[in-house]
Amino acid sequence: MKPAPFAFVRPQGLQHALEALAADEGAKVLAGGQSLVPLLNMRLAAPTTLVDINGLPALDEVLVSDEGVEVPALARQADVLASTAVRRVQPLLGLALAHVAHATIRNRGTVVGSLVHADAAAELPMVLALLGGHLRVASTAGTREIPADELFAGPLESTVRHDEIAVSAFFPALGADEGVAFAELARRHGDYAMCGAGALVRVEGDRVTRAWVAYLSVCDVPTVVDVELDDVGAEALAAAAERALGRLDPVGDVHASADYRAHLARVLTVRVLREAYDDARARAVGGRADPLGGRADPLGGRADPLGGRADPLGGRAESRP
Ligand SMILES: Cc1cc2nc3c(=O)[nH]c(=O)nc-3n(C[C@H](O)[C@H](O)[C@H](O)COP(=O)(O)OP(=O)(O)OC[C@H]3O[C@@H](n4cnc5c(N)ncnc54)[C@H](O)[C@@H]3O)c2cc1C
Repeated sequence: MKPAPFAFVRPQGLQHALEALAADEGAKVLAGGQSLVPLLNMRLAAPTTLVDINGLPALDEVLVSDEGVEVPALARQADVLASTAVRRVQPLLGLALAHVAHATIRNRGTVVGSLVHADAAAELPMVLALLGGHLRVASTAGTREIPADELFAGPLESTVRHDEIAVSAFFPALGADEGVAFAELARRHGDYAMCGAGALVRVEGDRVTRAWVAYLSVCDVPTVVDVELDDVGAEALAAAAERALGRLDPVGDVHASADYRAHLARVLTVRVLREAYDDARARAVGGRADPLGGRADPLGGRADPLGGRADPLGGRAESRP
């Protein structure tokens, strides 16, 4: 199928882009196009105007500080995954990004686009929710911050308004007393997961002081649960998983039944809590610098059939939306 007709705007600057969005209620932002273009082709979305932000200046440099990682709108998933500075400050980003689709898709897909797209099966919304990050959005009326717990309104629905551009996302740094872990189950590597979980565990010595687990592909929105863990023995972990399940409402679909999702959530909860605890303990003694061992691509490059070329169409795709 081909997309329904639309007007195409390639703005000269942010203000021009914002004016184009404000001028048409049916307008949509085009970023990496890895979610929007398939939706257009299947006519599941029919925007009247596409505002292509790919030419906007100063929206691709990732800023890493002791406070966290600020990812601007045009930073590609592959670039964030490849950054050792990002993984040092917030390792959960790299751990999760390694599971987002395939290398070719990550070369074009943006971190911010994934957040605005708000797919409950996607990894990055779960990461932002678990870390308590936020999205910064701009419109002709000014800018505002949307905290993660106000961002995800429903399946494929964020609270970013039609006339707003998300200019950056902020992921808080990992604390000195914290550890993280991520795990998911998909039928094939690169597929959306049937169930995924991330954990953030805070310790004091060998004691757990706080622990949260966040889930993707379980409920309609990424869901964070404070699992009230104080011990990482097998019984305590199993009890934490039951507590989490009491707060979840697993949905069934063609990929997995609700019961199977609940089973996976239980298994993954135990796994990520244990790993996040070990990570926190290892960091406390300075033993865990880079969870991906310095490799930009966790598959050692094998996943990229194009041998690392950033854009398989050499940029031509942008002029043929
Ligand atoms: C085969 C395939 C497999 C995939 N597997 C996974 C997976 O396993 N996990 C996963 O998380 N994702 C997966 N994806 C999706 C991929 O990560 C997308 O890149 C991502 O969801 C959207 O980012 P994008 O930059 O491509 O956004 P686009 O497709 O350009 O836009 C997506 C939506 O967000 C809006 N938008 C984008 N950027 C902005 C902005 N700055 N301001 C306001 N609105 C904006 C657009 O208007 C649109 O509604 C897959 C995609 C494909 C094609």
